Amino acid sequence: MEITEKVAYLKGLAEGLALDTEKSKEGKLIAAIIDVLDDMALELADMQDEQCDLEDGLDAVSEDLADVESLIYEELDDEEDEEDEDCYETTCPTCEEAIYFDDSILEEGEIICPNCGEKLEFDLSDLANESKSEDED
Ligand SMILES: [Zn+2]
Repeated sequence: MEITEKVAYLKGLAEGLALDTEKSKEGKLIAAIIDVLDDMALELADMQDEQCDLEDGLDAVSEDLADVESLIYEELDDEEDEEDEDCYETTCPTCEEAIYFDDSILEEGEIICPNCGEKLEFDLSDLANESKSEDED
């Protein structure tokens, strides 16, 4: 039973006693107690409503936060994926074997073919121009 319902029940009991709330001191006291209980019950009901609103608000914030978190993690995952993809493949012109290398090799500008020992050189200015024209697209 809700507190408001209990107070309503008490009110009914008091009315059933047909107390004289004007002249009887006991009647006045009981009427005053029930009045306070009534106010408290209503205030409590209001607080419970507000708490529900707060919980709804928190839920909404929590959901938004979860969205932000998943966005950040997706972005981090993307960055990690990109790091994984920073791997290049070329074919050695001498032995025609595929050679795999990463950014650090590219920055050095040359690689020794692990198959035949041929030194391959990259033209970095060509690569820079390529990526620039891609950006313009
Ligand atoms: Zn080779």
